Amino acid sequence: MRCATFWMQNHLGPPGDGAARGGLYEMDEPGYTFPNKMGRIVLLALEEVMGRNGLNAVLNLARLPHLSGNYPPPDFKPGVSFDEMSRLLGSIDEMYGPRGGRMLHLRAGRACFSFGVKDLGGLLGLADVAFRVVPLEVRMRVGIEVLAEIMNRYSDQQIRLAAEEENFLWVTEHCGVCWERTTTYPACAMMVGLLQEAMYWVSGGRRFDVQETTCLAMGDETCTIALSKVPLI
Ligand SMILES: [Zn+2]
Repeated sequence: MRCATFWMQNHLGPPGDGAARGGLYEMDEPGYTFPNKMGRIVLLALEEVMGRNGLNAVLNLARLPHLSGNYPPPDFKPGVSFDEMSRLLGSIDEMYGPRGGRMLHLRAGRACFSFGVKDLGGLLGLADVAFRVVPLEVRMRVGIEVLAEIMNRYSDQQIRLAAEEENFLWVTEHCGVCWERTTTYPACAMMVGLLQEAMYWVSGGRRFDVQETTCLAMGDETCTIALSKVPLI
């Protein structure tokens, strides 16, 4: 924990102004939100994996046509509600089916990391040469802690971390990825893809088994993502 706190103190920027609602993406009523910048990253990542036309079709299906070619600005004002994010991601499953949707979510989650999540907070510091001598499991833990801190600091998606003998656990009780959706499958593959890519990055190119083991959309009490401590290769 001390290690992560150190990284955060040294690398996290100023917190977003939680009171600064309004502007282009003014919400009708306050609620759970992601900041504009996170909404922007998700839209850029989806455009990368689906193409502009594919994304536009999904935005129409999600009743979010105003976001087409008009992404939120890269600031930390509350911008994209959980309801909007979940509608957007759910529409991908509706259009491509759960299997096709899952592949797109995983790929988009990985793309989110390179499209800007990596530049948030202290993550860039984890590429420092000195960090590479830290044992792999510690690097993973610090990476997960810094990512959770970014979510907790800038968005209403509050992450609780836990660990089992073989896995780190990424747990949330209010999930903007699957908000108010009902599915028969774990619906938060985008977050799985993001965590996979983050672990690939902090480990210097190792792959890890990352699975969503419980999901609010399936009626579970939390969305829980288990990250194996041991690399696949
Ligand atoms: Zn979920």
